[in-house]
Amino acid sequence: MDTTDDKVLPLSVQSLYTDGSFHTATDSSPSSMASAWLALDDDGLILESSSLQIPSCFPSALRSEIYAIVLGLNALSHGSSISVYTDCSQLISLWKRFVDVPFSPKLLREHNHLLWLSIRQLIKDRKLIVNLIKVPAHGDDFYNVQVDSLAKASHLSSQPTVSPLAFCHVPCFLTFNSLPIDMNIRHFLRSIADACALLSFCSMARFTALGSPSLFDWAGIYFCLSQIKGFASHKNGRPEFWIFRIKLLLDMLPTLTTLQQRKPYLYSPDWLCPQCNSAPEDLNHLWTCPYILPELNPCSTHRSEVVKFRDSCLSSFLSLKPLDSNFHVAFSALDCWNYETPSSSYLWLTRGLLPAHLTNFLKQYFPLSVIYKTISTLLNDFQIELYGEIWLCRNILFHAWEESQGISAASKLRGPSSNPPFTAISSHIHNSSLASVSQDSWISWISSSIIRGGSWISHLDFLRRLTVQPLRISFW
Ligand SMILES: [Zn+2]
Repeated sequence: MDTTDDKVLPLSVQSLYTDGSFHTATDSSPSSMASAWLALDDDGLILESSSLQIPSCFPSALRSEIYAIVLGLNALSHGSSISVYTDCSQLISLWKRFVDVPFSPKLLREHNHLLWLSIRQLIKDRKLIVNLIKVPAHGDDFYNVQVDSLAKASHLSSQPTVSPLAFCHVPCFLTFNSLPIDMNIRHFLRSIADACALLSFCSMARFTALGSPSLFDWAGIYFCLSQIKGFASHKNGRPEFWIFRIKLLLDMLPTLTTLQQRKPYLYSPDWLCPQCNSAPEDLNHLWTCPYILPELNPCSTHRSEVVKFRDSCLSSFLSLKPLDSNFHVAFSALDCWNYETPSSSYLWLTRGLLPAHLTNFLKQYFPLSVIYKTISTLLNDFQIELYGEIWLCRNILFHAWEESQGISAASKLRGPSSNPPFTAISSHIHNSSLASVSQDSWISWISSSIIRGGSWISHLDFLRRLTVQPLRISFW
């Protein structure tokens, strides 16, 4: 596997100093894990040392510490009895839970369980006696300082030369795309199901017809949808509002255009918006219809609600941290607030399709979790207003108009009186300029989350693709 495997330390080794080092990812460089150990005899003489940059896989500081022990134990002779010195107290407390006890299948639910199982297997196979001892992290222990600098120095070495599967001393494990799954398997499989579901969602023709999937912030849209808990439980009251939100997102609200496609035998394809009679009544027309009644002025209501939404976003973000006037000016100038034209992204935002440029702008100032939490709450408030002030009012007028056309609730249920071929009408709407979404994108999202850490949802990427191999889930 590796040169470290060839080293076999003499039985005279009395103690091992181990240390891990972890560099978190920055904008310019990925995260990096490195581990080192020193082997000493009972005179305190350093017999051997080793350091290694660890292949990035579920990267964390703790993992680099556990790796240091795996590598150290891996170099010991059969029957060695040693003290392991570490400055990581978390490592010692986990050791007590996972190593100093009989095996329990519950271990398989834990992060880094493959490393812990490898330690158990090494101790068993080589009949090792291991005692962990805590040393002060920033004390003046000479050997600890030395092993610390050894670990830190190996970040500078070239890319890891060992496979993420090296040092895996376990009888059986699962891999994904040749990467070991060193986390709760049930959670991992859940993340695959979620990633596939999101991929199917954003590949829907109704969305790809609007443009490239990279125009939208799917992670943000996913977050907003996940907030619709009331939809599943119906405990929050208002299920009809949640249905409105979802139909709005999917462009499935029963506008006249939709009804003309679904029931052309009742709604003549020639009919225009019953209010203004100047344009087809599709989803976007709900907000741009120029017709003005005392109780309904959709265009101006929509504009003022968007302005309210924009200003609430601004004041929420400004309350989180002081920002100069440049933020204010640049935020207000974003294309998604452009109601004059109106811009496409303005109409998308109304539907709940968060435009990517909105998040990308805010990301310069705030963490994504803060952005999503703030926007999803305010978007919900905004859509409540659209529901009450525009959609419900429009429905009252629309039903009155339907009655005037002789379209009753009973006739809607009846279906066509004859069977003319209606099928051709609805199929042509979404077939132009389909942006392609690669249907194996989920593999690169998941692989990327294993390699770089974090949830798969933070690795959505429709433009830059990882080079991925076909999926392999294997046992051995
Ligand atoms: Zn109209």
